[in-house]
Amino acid sequence: FDQREGSIWFDGALIPWKDATLHVLSHGLHYASCVFEGERAYGGEIFKTREHSERLLQSAKLLDFEIPFTAEEIDAAKALVVRTNGKADAYVRPVAWRGSEMMGVSAQHNKIHLAIASWEWPSYFDPEARRKGIRLDMAEFRRPDPATIPCKAKASGLYMICTISKHKAERKGYADALMLDWRGHVAECTGANIFFVKDGALHTPTPDCFLDGITRRTVIALAKRRGIAINERTILPEELATFSECFICGTAAEVTPVGEIGEYTFTPAAITQALAEDYTREVQPKAKAAA
Ligand code: PMP
Repeated sequence: FDQREGSIWFDGALIPWKDATLHVLSHGLHYASCVFEGERAYGGEIFKTREHSERLLQSAKLLDFEIPFTAEEIDAAKALVVRTNGKADAYVRPVAWRGSEMMGVSAQHNKIHLAIASWEWPSYFDPEARRKGIRLDMAEFRRPDPATIPCKAKASGLYMICTISKHKAERKGYADALMLDWRGHVAECTGANIFFVKDGALHTPTPDCFLDGITRRTVIALAKRRGIAINERTILPEELATFSECFICGTAAEVTPVGEIGEYTFTPAAITQALAEDYTREVQPKAKAAA
């Protein structure tokens, strides 16, 4: 991935993709003082770019560091990267981390770096599996208690258990894993939020210990527009048997139907279909959508 053509914005300027390197003694690498974003550009326009930039700044604050760029500057840098790399439909990855000046847990004055890359990433899941509904494993690890971590930060350290869970699921032939939270309630997938359908209404876990995704909030707004009832509440794993449809959503995953979670099966139907279509329409650039 590091030997591609293209440009990466690094601490204020575009540089060749292959030159965007950092030192092995970076604090971000050793102690996970690192936050990032995942965004998508559609038709050259990044969907909800400002919300993502603000979440990035907020994630850094939660890890006790300040990114030395404003939301406006980050928005402009992301747009420049997408334009320069020449793909109108692209995934955009800003990442900010503490540098290498001090190599201990404490690194009060280390330089804060920000890099932004973009690349083509058409479908997060296999398109065929996606049509039928992807299969989810139950993850072994749980989302931690918010008293133990800054759960609202999109922080690299919080992805350790996501990667372990996703690898384990993939080795068993599943597309992803559903994680419970520390209380044993249904939480989210390794890179996406989850929704269920029962009797024409949506049910989704209250995001009190995991990311309240930008896609999740978009889907809720789209469902409201359609007059679909939304229940944000505690969902117990035993309840999975009572839902007829299930989908996950996130910037990378968009709206992806789920066909199976362990022993439970779901049939992607009208509500999943409608919200997936609404989302596809919603992310189109304003000018095009108005045409
Ligand atoms: N949960 C996790 C763990 C994620 O990585 C993501 C993707 N950022 C989401 C939820 C969904 O967030 P968003 O819709 O903002 O992409």
